[in-house]
Amino acid sequence: MKMDRTRILIVDDIPMNIKVLGEALRKEYAVSLATSGSKALEIASAQPQPDLILLDIMMPDMDGYEVCRRLKSDARTHAIPIIFVTAKTAMVDEVRGFDLGAVDYISKPFSIPIVMARVKTHLELKRKSDLLEQLTCTDALTNIANRRRLDESLQQEWNRQRRSAAPLSVIFADIDYFKRFNDHYGHQAGDECLMRVAAIFKDSLARSTDFIARYGGEEFVALLPETETKAAMAMAEKMRAHVEQAAIPHTASEIADHVTLSLGVVTAIPTSDDQPEQLLQQADDALYAAKAGGRNRVVQAPSTP
Ligand code: GH3
Ligand code: MG
Ligand code: MG
Repeated sequence: MKMDRTRILIVDDIPMNIKVLGEALRKEYAVSLATSGSKALEIASAQPQPDLILLDIMMPDMDGYEVCRRLKSDARTHAIPIIFVTAKTAMVDEVRGFDLGAVDYISKPFSIPIVMARVKTHLELKRKSDLLEQLTCTDALTNIANRRRLDESLQQEWNRQRRSAAPLSVIFADIDYFKRFNDHYGHQAGDECLMRVAAIFKDSLARSTDFIARYGGEEFVALLPETETKAAMAMAEKMRAHVEQAAIPHTASEIADHVTLSLGVVTAIPTSDDQPEQLLQQADDALYAAKAGGRNRVVQAPSTP
């Protein structure tokens, strides 16, 4: 796999100040420059995002503290490590920088080798925390999100849709007669089947905001923000059809000679009175109805408006 180059954003209102530092960093990293706080915010939230930001404090319009505060309060940018590089050397300034969430504080004039060493250390820490985040939130077998990540995303989407009074849809999917699949083909083949189904789901999801997780065993949950019942039902039907079209042999199934799915769908406009877990429960109830109704089908939860 080709690794992207590590990106560093340098923010300083006087380009001359950062010329030497920029040249040194450029030998190892992809460097971008911003000469104002607002330009820094713009670059930091656009893809591909910087892996680290070197931030000046004294700038006209918006100072470095304010830039830092805004970066830390935005979910898209809050994980990017920030190092203040500044002529403000008083202890209170330094403490304020750390209080705002900076990982380090370097006083001007600085020594290039020391800045390079600190940058390297913080990039290494960032790489490790990203890896940890990825490992704790990914299902090891299927490589899609795990239940922990689902719980986080459900809460986040719930809050977001509540603020905008927009519908949130949940699809609960479960493979039919999967115990028999394992019994007949073996656990290894069962694992491979789960991987294929997860990959099909990933391909089926239409929007970048759609989210799929392995809930556990042979159960999967999709979250579809800003999606009405009709579109959610269509998506569930697409997931069902795509798995059916994959024609994974399952001679031990009672309803087909290939792997099939049952799915439950619910749509709600989140309110402060309800809990996101209720949405999962309603989708699970609809899934149960799909099983009782003969499997290999999609059922809409009765409470869906
Ligand atoms: P239904 O049609 O009602 O959903 O029946 P089912 O057999 O699919 O449901 P049940 O919940 O009885 O069985 C689920 C099976 O999924 C049991 C277990 O052996 C299997 N399973 C759960 N996790 C894994 C896994 O990680 N790998 C494999 N190979 N099998 C798993
Ligand atoms: Mg099942
Ligand atoms: Mg099950």
